[in-house]
This record gives sequence, structure tokens and C-alpha cells, in this order.
Amino acid sequence: MICALAAFAATATATATASLCEYDILRYPRDDRPARRALVEEGRLWRGGVVPYVFTQDVSNGLRGKVTKVMGELEAMAQVSFVDSLRESKRPAGGRLVVSTRHVENPSGCWATVGMPPNGGVAKMNLGWCRDERHITHELLHVLGMWHEQSRQDSDKFLRLKRDDGVNDCIIRGTDSRGFSYDFRSIMHYPLSTIDAELTAEGIERLRLQNARPDQVGRWGEASEGDIRQLAAMYGRGEGRITHERENTTVAAGIIVAAIVLAVIGLYWGMRAL
Ligand SMILES: [Zn+2]
Repeated sequence: MICALAAFAATATATATASLCEYDILRYPRDDRPARRALVEEGRLWRGGVVPYVFTQDVSNGLRGKVTKVMGELEAMAQVSFVDSLRESKRPAGGRLVVSTRHVENPSGCWATVGMPPNGGVAKMNLGWCRDERHITHELLHVLGMWHEQSRQDSDKFLRLKRDDGVNDCIIRGTDSRGFSYDFRSIMHYPLSTIDAELTAEGIERLRLQNARPDQVGRWGEASEGDIRQLAAMYGRGEGRITHERENTTVAAGIIVAAIVLAVIGLYWGMRAL
């Protein structure tokens, strides 16, 4: 499913308010830390990967179905589980996620808080103008603790912001990439036009290596392999859609084949020597 994040760009600009950072992140109250880490800082990972959640009444059955479908996809990618907290007898100790289409902070917006809330509070996801799975995935990855790809510490190597407009008022620069390559295919990357960014030479090369065009950035329909790897690094690998080992498997297969060839050659020369 390809979602027009161009629409995101236009609408996000219209819906951005002072309460949102980078268009769609609601900071927790008194959350004044400089946010110099993150994918997520460890304290913001949901305990045991369990995210208790509840829908507010305004969320239609159709939208609930889409959200729970995406939740299921994320559960297959990493050791996370979304648990309907209305069915839980105990109030969760680590806080819970409230999914709404009318959160008061910005009812028409498409946004989320990042990571587990501090002190057993409430994490929020608002699906105002966005109702498609691409945006739901993006916002749920925020909820799980992922920030925007273009906010990585090393993003300056790959792109240059041409102007410092509203989106950068509270930009969260310097997130920890944990050694992952810069990912222009990330579902957590904004379109270059939205952030008015220009690729550097290294960015152009990185994009080429990822077999992608500049106009595709920020418009991918689903989580990238890099997103899945990052999520798995945070919570542990999931059982489904595992692509992590593809490269390692290829290398391992190559080593085995080479070893067999060498063994055969060795055997041949060994036999000849007899
Ligand atoms: Zn976002």
C-alpha cells in the first residue's frame, strides 16, 4: 500500500500546532530531556514489549480493525505484544496506550507520543486525518519508541536542511542509530520536500545503494527491513517476516560452498599423491 506522504506533507503543515514536534510527535509533559539518544532510551521501552491499549469510543470498528491488523504485523516483526487493556483485570503498571481520533491536544492531527510513558502515565496515538495503514504503522512505531530517521545524529552526512522553518522548532536531533545504516527506505523518514532537505553527495550515493529515488523517500507503504531490524534490536526478534538473516545466510552459504570446493580439491590432490 503506497500512501501519499505528499498529502502528509500538506496536511501536516496545516495541522501542526505548538504542541507537536516534527509535525507528529507529542512530547510527554515535562519531557525536557534533550533526546540525544533514541531509537529509544532503555527506560522508554515498554516492559517486556507489552503495550496495553484501549480505544476511545469514537474510534470506529473499521479503524479498530486496521489498527489491530498493523499491531499484529508489528508483533510478527519483534517481541512486542499489544494487549487490549479492557480485557485485562489489572491496571497495567507501566502505563497504557490510548488510541483516539479526538485527543484534545490536537484532535484533527495524526500524531503519537514516543515510547512508554514515564511514571505509569498514558501514551497517546491520535488518528485524526490519517486512517491508512501506512500512517498507523508510522505512529505505532513512535509509540514503541522510534523517532524519525532524519533526526539521526548522522543525518547531516546524507541531507542538508535548506531552511529552518516550523518543523525544526523542536526538532529532535541526534537520535542514536545503534550502528544501523542510514535508511532512506524507513517508514520513519519524512519526504525530502516536507523537511525541505537537499541530499548531499553521500546521501545521493546512499540512496543509489538502496535502489531508491529521492521522490520515493517518505512515501514507502510499509516498514523497511531497516525499521524491522531496529525494532528487533530494541525488543528482540519476532517470529514472522524475518529478513534479518538474509545477508548472513547468504554469506554462510558462500562459506560452506567454498569449504566443500576446497575439501574436494584437497581430496583430489590427496588421491593423486597416493
Ligand atoms: Zn512521525
